[in-house]
Amino acid sequence: FSFYETTGVKTTCPYCGVGCQLELRVKNNRIMEVLPLNEPPNEGLLCVKGRFGFSFVHHPDRLKKPLIRKEGKLTEATWEEAYELIASKIKETKEQYGSDALAGLSSARCTNEENYLMQKLFRAVIGTNNIDHCARLCHASTVAGLAATLGSGAMTNSIEEVTAADVIFVTGSNTTETHPVIGSKIRQAVRYHGARLIVAEPRKIDLARDAEIFLQIKPGTNVALMNGMMHVILEEGLQDQTYIDERTENFAEFKKALTGFTPEKAAEICGVEAEDIRKAARLYARAAKASIYYAMGVTQHSAGTEHVMAISNLALLCGHIGKEGAGVNPLRGQNNVQGACDMGALPNVFPGYQRVDVPEIVEKFEKAWGVKLPHEQGLTLPEILDAAEAGNIKFLYIMGENPMVSDPDLNHVKKALSSVDFLVVQDIFLTETAEFAHVVLPAASAVEKDGTFTNTERRVQRVRKAVEPVGEAKPDWIIITELMNRLGYEVKYRHPYEIMEEITRVTPQYGGINYYRIEQQGLQWPCPSKDHPGTKFLHQGRFTRGKGLFMPVVYQGPAEETDVEYPYLLTTGRILYQYHTRTMTGRVTGLNEIAPESYMEVHPTTADKLGISDGEIVKVVSRRGAITTKAKVAEKVKEDVIFMPFHYAQGAANVLTNRALDKSCKIPELKICAVRIEKI
Ligand code: SF4
Repeated sequence: FSFYETTGVKTTCPYCGVGCQLELRVKNNRIMEVLPLNEPPNEGLLCVKGRFGFSFVHHPDRLKKPLIRKEGKLTEATWEEAYELIASKIKETKEQYGSDALAGLSSARCTNEENYLMQKLFRAVIGTNNIDHCARLCHASTVAGLAATLGSGAMTNSIEEVTAADVIFVTGSNTTETHPVIGSKIRQAVRYHGARLIVAEPRKIDLARDAEIFLQIKPGTNVALMNGMMHVILEEGLQDQTYIDERTENFAEFKKALTGFTPEKAAEICGVEAEDIRKAARLYARAAKASIYYAMGVTQHSAGTEHVMAISNLALLCGHIGKEGAGVNPLRGQNNVQGACDMGALPNVFPGYQRVDVPEIVEKFEKAWGVKLPHEQGLTLPEILDAAEAGNIKFLYIMGENPMVSDPDLNHVKKALSSVDFLVVQDIFLTETAEFAHVVLPAASAVEKDGTFTNTERRVQRVRKAVEPVGEAKPDWIIITELMNRLGYEVKYRHPYEIMEEITRVTPQYGGINYYRIEQQGLQWPCPSKDHPGTKFLHQGRFTRGKGLFMPVVYQGPAEETDVEYPYLLTTGRILYQYHTRTMTGRVTGLNEIAPESYMEVHPTTADKLGISDGEIVKVVSRRGAITTKAKVAEKVKEDVIFMPFHYAQGAANVLTNRALDKSCKIPELKICAVRIEKI
């Protein structure tokens, strides 16, 4: 085809939270090519998924009609039949068991407008706060940790500021593979802007090659590392005492808790050299502008909230928050995980993080939505699955999520999904989760609808329709709107911009956002009024909560340690060529040629000890289950650590993982469990 035969549609990449801007070149209702746009946040860059990962849209496996389970088999049906059945089951379940016997999982893959409607469906129409989504599995600890210490759980600074830092500290993030464009910018910062890089990771990741200091820490020891670094900073007087005195509180308590946590002690726990901890501490503390980037290596632990608070303590100690090129920057995984949280797809807050158990807030939403609302917090995602297995959740509605691959302890997830009386799954493909459904609704993909996504740096950006939905698939916002009407709650949204107008009326951070203002380069919240320019970095002059709060944090090991029976630590993660549970990338030929199957990465010494060769099929066993997968012998991991990507349904890493929860935010410990390896 020739470029001139195609038309261009500007939109936002539907893969990761970087939110790259791109142009889809379209001909005869098909995407022919994808081009990067030279504007924030990607400035001309795209990774392999954004550039070559769109053929899933036209894949023959796409769901084209609603499906209803009849005599045990999912059978094609009309929208009318599907809506009728879902509405009658919702009414029946409510009447028989009450509203709290129903629960919904919203989606970090769907637009802000769709997430807003999904939580509104559950709160205003069904009458329960049992609504959550996969942020529970990735950054619940960030939201809990940073909201407590800073007042906001969001990334403090902007992607364009990566190159403005003097020192960059990356911990618990394989940025080059998980947020590739940010990974490239970190590399640019080091190679062309003179930034000095510290990397702390259990694997010798690509970015380690650019690091001045690489700390190959044992998985789950982030708190020990931070505490060791802070001990050095205090001992050598490198803290920013003026900043501490003027802008923070609880410093004395925090300092007391660090007593005795020497770099030697930290080094022993982390499995690195004490001298390297000292060097890292000095480098970070002495910088004029130092930024921290982290992801799920920090958050997905049974002490995830403490891990996040330890990072916040370090940044507060050195005065590295509230200025350009610095900050604490949690990298959001999915395209709209930030937006799904902002929209209140969480069991404890309405849109804009307004609590569901504060009477004045409830009253505000009752007035806006014209109904009485529940006042108690709902169940979190892991609690919903537990309640389903126990027979207390009878009706479950899952929009655009695939817990049968993404959630820990898949045998438990399977029991939970099999236990509900009625399961609705709304998705673009018949996922592993949809196989359990009583009704499957075919949804439009991100390039077949309009709306907005909010990327990891809080930038609200447009999603634009480039092609018509396949078959009878409909955008999620239309499906929810039609269902609301069917349930007797009348709504008349004609276009997502009308939903956004409603969002801005009830969500202070989004108050100044509308489709006209975000037409060009989006806007970063907080953007409280129509004349507000948006906020590039947070906490300038004043923290969102007033003063930055130091929290004493004690190191705790993982919920499951290795022993004679299970002698290796399994850690899981993502790879560049696949995305999440592969519903999309699994249908892109080129990506699957490069990364076709599950594997476990093992150190050569361990492989030798076990008599395993590269490429051999082995069995990996944990206390929760066993899988077979291919051995990949590589020096990236340490001898007692095994790494597996979690993307694959066959040889699924999450059969093995542990669902031990963080007590405050209920994030499961997806990052660490104990396993053994058996030859087959
Ligand atoms: Fe898409 Fe993320 Fe890649 Fe950008 S970095 S092209 S948003 S997957």
